[in-house]
Amino acid sequence: MLSAEILAVGTELLLGSIANTNAQMISQSLSGLGVNVFWHTVVGDNPGRLEEALDIARKRANVLITVGGLGPTYDDLTKEVVCRAFGRRLTFRGDIAEELRGLYETVFRVPMPENNLRQAELPEGCTVFDNPVGTAPGCAFYEDGVHVLMLPGPPEECEAMLHRHAEPYLRSLSDEVLLSRDILCFGIGESAVDQLLRDKMSQMKNPSLATYAKPAEMCLRVTAKAKTCDEAEAMLAPVVDEVKKALGDVIYGVDVSSLEEACKKLLQEQKLSLATAESCTGGLLAQRMTELPGVSAVYRGGVVAYWTSVKADVLGVPWALLDEFGAVSEPVARAMAEGVCAVTGAELGISVTGVAGPDADERGNPVGLVYLGLCTPKGTFCRKLTLGRRKRERIRALAANTGLDMVRRFLTGLPLEPTREK
Ligand code: ATP
Ligand code: MG
Repeated sequence: MLSAEILAVGTELLLGSIANTNAQMISQSLSGLGVNVFWHTVVGDNPGRLEEALDIARKRANVLITVGGLGPTYDDLTKEVVCRAFGRRLTFRGDIAEELRGLYETVFRVPMPENNLRQAELPEGCTVFDNPVGTAPGCAFYEDGVHVLMLPGPPEECEAMLHRHAEPYLRSLSDEVLLSRDILCFGIGESAVDQLLRDKMSQMKNPSLATYAKPAEMCLRVTAKAKTCDEAEAMLAPVVDEVKKALGDVIYGVDVSSLEEACKKLLQEQKLSLATAESCTGGLLAQRMTELPGVSAVYRGGVVAYWTSVKADVLGVPWALLDEFGAVSEPVARAMAEGVCAVTGAELGISVTGVAGPDADERGNPVGLVYLGLCTPKGTFCRKLTLGRRKRERIRALAANTGLDMVRRFLTGLPLEPTREK
């Protein structure tokens, strides 16, 4: 069994200047490969303490991944210390030095600073991981029952090297394949899922079934270990079906990346376009939609109508409605959705108006009260949410997700609200 420890090297991490996002990324990748990650360690740029950390790590893990400290500066000491700890010589690789020199001449168009030659020093007999987006190569070797992998610190370099080199390297160590399906849900809480599937989740080992929290939504991951992909696939299918049956229409997709992605797909299939009118979410819906490449085919645009006057003057919400019911109300949500369809020509318009907090609004509407409107060729619909005193950020995220979910539900012919209890 492969058990891994991720050892991030960098004083900045200990000082709290940066978060250890590389460890998170590597952990995610390793869990997909079926490598158990049992430890995350962070150590500063200090040779003595790094050596200590390596001594502890090699006793409890058989895959050791170091991150950072591969660069050319005085505080980059990972390779030296790892080599010392594992009794490997650090050797100068002329071929890599030439590659580096070539890179400086042809790409950077400056002579290579001499200290960069340190990057051409690698443990003797290692597998070299070239760096497709930077200069410092990484590497891997096997010594004394432990696979040691060294990856660079800059996140984009770490990620590229992880996918291109470390993952295939680790995959080759195991003769099993691991396959997962992510079942994505919105409109159901973790405790409700737990109630419905608890027995199943605790009993199942292979495939395993586990919940993962995503911001303002839920993911259930089914994972199967098998000798072949086909075998794993066949093990997954019945479990996915069972979960679908148990959870019903709160599932918005399997192996889709997000609600907006699900909406984009449906809009494309049905040749419809969407526009957004947002107050308390301040453009969150627009941002989420426009993160998707190619979305211009189905997303026309959005209005951030924060001031009442913008709701009236840009979206055409009648002043009479605003005066009588206030900006946070069902009639205004409906008029905003209809208004944005009129302004943009989109067939579907989604609107959000609510109180994100931390304080109640001037009309005394409580924090967490949100109205969403959905204008469609079949009429305009509305949903009211009472999200309670949650954090502002969370209220906004939940409101945005609800808006997208309403679009998804409308386009799949479902009732706009989940029928199941939250
Ligand atoms: P370089 O060649 O740039 O010196 P390196 O491999 O020596 O790369 P470090 O010097 O340790 O790596 O870190 C370079 C930068 O990468 C840091 O300033 C930091 O911004 C980022 N970084 C390092 N480690 C991590 C980490 N674990 N998580 C997120 N970012 C990190
Ligand atoms: Mg460095």
